[in-house]
Amino acid sequence: KETKKIVSACFAGIECRYDGRANRVTKIQEMIKKGEAIPVCPEQLGGLSTPRLPAQIVGGSGEDVLDGKAKVIDQAGNDVTEAFIRGAEQALQMAKLTGATEAILKERSPSCGSCVIYDGTFEGTKKAGQGVTTALLKRHGIRVKSEEEL
Ligand code: SF4
Repeated sequence: KETKKIVSACFAGIECRYDGRANRVTKIQEMIKKGEAIPVCPEQLGGLSTPRLPAQIVGGSGEDVLDGKAKVIDQAGNDVTEAFIRGAEQALQMAKLTGATEAILKERSPSCGSCVIYDGTFEGTKKAGQGVTTALLKRHGIRVKSEEEL
Protein backbone atom coordinates (compact mmCIF):
# COMPACT_ATOMS: atom_id res chain seq x y z
CA LYS A 1 0.00 0.00 0.00
CA GLU A 2 1.21 3.50 -0.87
CA THR A 3 2.24 5.76 2.02
CA LYS A 4 -0.13 8.65 2.64
CA LYS A 5 1.06 12.05 1.49
CA ILE A 6 0.20 15.64 2.15
CA VAL A 7 0.24 17.60 -1.13
CA SER A 8 0.01 21.32 -1.90
CA ALA A 9 -3.66 21.98 -2.63
CA CYS A 10 -2.81 24.12 -5.68
CA PHE A 11 -1.57 20.88 -7.40
CA ALA A 12 -5.10 19.50 -7.06
CA GLY A 13 -6.49 22.36 -9.11
CA ILE A 14 -7.73 24.23 -6.03
CA GLU A 15 -7.32 27.91 -6.88
CA CYS A 16 -5.58 28.81 -3.64
CA ARG A 17 -2.48 30.55 -4.97
CA TYR A 18 -1.80 34.17 -4.06
CA ASP A 19 -3.03 35.18 -7.53
CA GLY A 20 -6.17 33.05 -7.32
CA ARG A 21 -4.82 30.43 -9.73
CA ALA A 22 -3.78 26.78 -9.41
CA ASN A 23 -0.72 24.68 -10.39
CA ARG A 24 -2.58 21.59 -11.63
CA VAL A 25 -0.42 18.41 -11.70
CA THR A 26 -2.24 15.39 -13.17
CA LYS A 27 -0.09 12.83 -11.36
CA ILE A 28 -0.94 14.40 -8.01
CA GLN A 29 -4.62 14.66 -8.87
CA GLU A 30 -4.54 10.90 -9.54
CA MET A 31 -2.99 10.26 -6.09
CA ILE A 32 -5.81 12.24 -4.47
CA LYS A 33 -8.46 10.32 -6.43
CA LYS A 34 -6.96 7.05 -5.19
CA GLY A 35 -6.99 8.28 -1.59
CA GLU A 36 -3.19 8.35 -1.33
CA ALA A 37 -2.82 12.10 -0.96
CA ILE A 38 -4.51 14.86 1.02
CA PRO A 39 -4.52 18.41 -0.41
CA VAL A 40 -3.58 21.17 2.02
CA CYS A 41 -2.94 24.91 1.48
CA PRO A 42 -1.01 26.23 4.48
CA GLU A 43 -1.49 29.89 3.55
CA GLN A 44 -5.27 29.57 3.45
CA LEU A 45 -5.24 27.44 6.62
CA GLY A 46 -3.21 30.17 8.28
CA GLY A 47 -6.03 32.61 7.65
CA LEU A 48 -4.78 34.50 4.61
CA SER A 49 -7.26 35.52 1.92
CA THR A 50 -7.22 34.53 -1.75
CA PRO A 51 -6.16 36.35 -3.78
CA ARG A 52 -3.50 37.87 -1.52
CA LEU A 53 -0.29 39.81 -1.98
CA PRO A 54 2.74 37.66 -2.74
CA ALA A 55 4.99 37.15 0.28
CA GLN A 56 8.64 36.21 0.72
CA ILE A 57 10.85 35.18 3.62
CA VAL A 58 13.14 38.03 4.61
CA GLY A 59 16.33 37.36 6.51
CA GLY A 60 16.60 33.60 6.19
CA SER A 61 14.71 30.44 5.36
CA GLY A 62 11.67 28.55 6.71
CA GLU A 63 13.56 27.10 9.67
CA ASP A 64 14.70 30.60 10.67
CA VAL A 65 11.08 31.78 10.61
CA LEU A 66 10.14 28.94 12.99
CA ASP A 67 13.00 29.97 15.28
CA GLY A 68 11.98 33.65 15.25
CA LYS A 69 15.10 34.67 13.31
CA ALA A 70 13.42 35.63 10.02
CA LYS A 71 10.07 37.06 8.99
CA VAL A 72 7.57 36.59 6.18
CA ILE A 73 6.70 39.91 4.59
CA ASP A 74 4.19 40.62 1.82
CA GLN A 75 4.81 42.87 -1.14
CA ALA A 76 3.28 45.88 0.68
CA GLY A 77 5.59 45.36 3.64
CA ASN A 78 3.04 43.76 6.01
CA ASP A 79 4.40 41.18 8.43
CA VAL A 80 2.48 37.95 7.75
CA THR A 81 4.80 35.68 9.75
CA GLU A 82 2.12 34.65 12.23
CA ALA A 83 -0.26 33.45 9.50
CA PHE A 84 2.52 31.44 7.85
CA ILE A 85 3.43 29.73 11.13
CA ARG A 86 -0.20 29.04 11.92
CA GLY A 87 -0.68 27.54 8.46
CA ALA A 88 2.37 25.31 8.91
CA GLU A 89 1.01 24.07 12.24
CA GLN A 90 -2.37 23.33 10.68
CA ALA A 91 -0.73 21.41 7.82
CA LEU A 92 1.23 19.39 10.39
CA GLN A 93 -1.98 18.67 12.26
CA MET A 94 -3.54 17.36 9.05
CA ALA A 95 -0.50 15.15 8.43
CA LYS A 96 -0.71 13.70 11.93
CA LEU A 97 -4.45 13.16 11.71
CA THR A 98 -4.23 11.30 8.41
CA GLY A 99 -1.01 9.43 9.18
CA ALA A 100 0.83 11.05 6.28
CA THR A 101 4.58 10.39 6.40
CA GLU A 102 5.53 12.17 3.17
CA ALA A 103 4.66 15.43 1.46
CA ILE A 104 4.90 16.73 -2.10
CA LEU A 105 4.95 20.51 -1.98
CA LYS A 106 5.21 23.35 -4.49
CA GLU A 107 8.79 24.42 -5.14
CA ARG A 108 9.71 28.11 -4.62
CA SER A 109 6.69 28.93 -2.37
CA PRO A 110 7.51 30.67 0.94
CA SER A 111 5.33 28.01 2.61
CA CYS A 112 5.83 24.95 0.44
CA GLY A 113 9.27 25.32 -1.21
CA SER A 114 11.74 22.56 -0.38
CA CYS A 115 14.99 23.45 -2.21
CA VAL A 116 14.54 26.95 -3.60
CA ILE A 117 12.69 30.07 -2.39
CA TYR A 118 12.68 33.74 -3.38
CA ASP A 119 15.31 35.82 -1.64
CA GLY A 120 13.10 38.42 0.03
CA THR A 121 13.87 41.30 -2.33
CA PHE A 122 10.76 40.89 -4.56
CA GLU A 123 13.00 41.22 -7.60
CA GLY A 124 12.42 37.70 -8.85
CA THR A 125 15.73 36.40 -7.55
CA LYS A 126 15.90 33.03 -5.82
CA LYS A 127 18.11 31.35 -3.25
CA ALA A 128 18.56 27.91 -1.75
CA GLY A 129 16.15 27.39 1.12
CA GLN A 130 12.83 25.98 2.20
CA GLY A 131 9.42 27.34 3.09
CA VAL A 132 7.89 27.56 6.56
CA THR A 133 5.57 24.54 6.23
CA THR A 134 8.32 22.40 4.71
CA ALA A 135 10.60 23.25 7.64
CA LEU A 136 7.97 22.35 10.23
CA LEU A 137 6.94 19.09 8.54
CA LYS A 138 10.60 18.03 8.27
CA ARG A 139 11.18 18.80 11.95
CA HIS A 140 8.43 16.31 12.67
CA GLY A 141 9.97 13.56 10.56
CA ILE A 142 7.88 13.97 7.43
CA ARG A 143 9.82 13.56 4.18
CA VAL A 144 9.24 16.49 1.85
CA LYS A 145 9.90 16.67 -1.87
CA SER A 146 8.77 18.97 -4.65
CA GLU A 147 6.73 18.34 -7.78
CA GLU A 148 9.98 18.65 -9.71
CA GLU A 149 11.23 15.40 -8.14
CA LEU A 150 8.16 13.38 -9.16
FE1 SF4 B 1 0.03 26.11 -3.12
FE2 SF4 B 1 1.39 25.98 -0.85
FE3 SF4 B 1 1.00 28.33 -2.00
FE4 SF4 B 1 -1.06 27.08 -0.89
S1 SF4 B 1 0.73 27.84 0.18
S2 SF4 B 1 -1.03 28.06 -2.88
S3 SF4 B 1 -0.55 24.96 -1.31
S4 SF4 B 1 2.17 26.61 -2.84
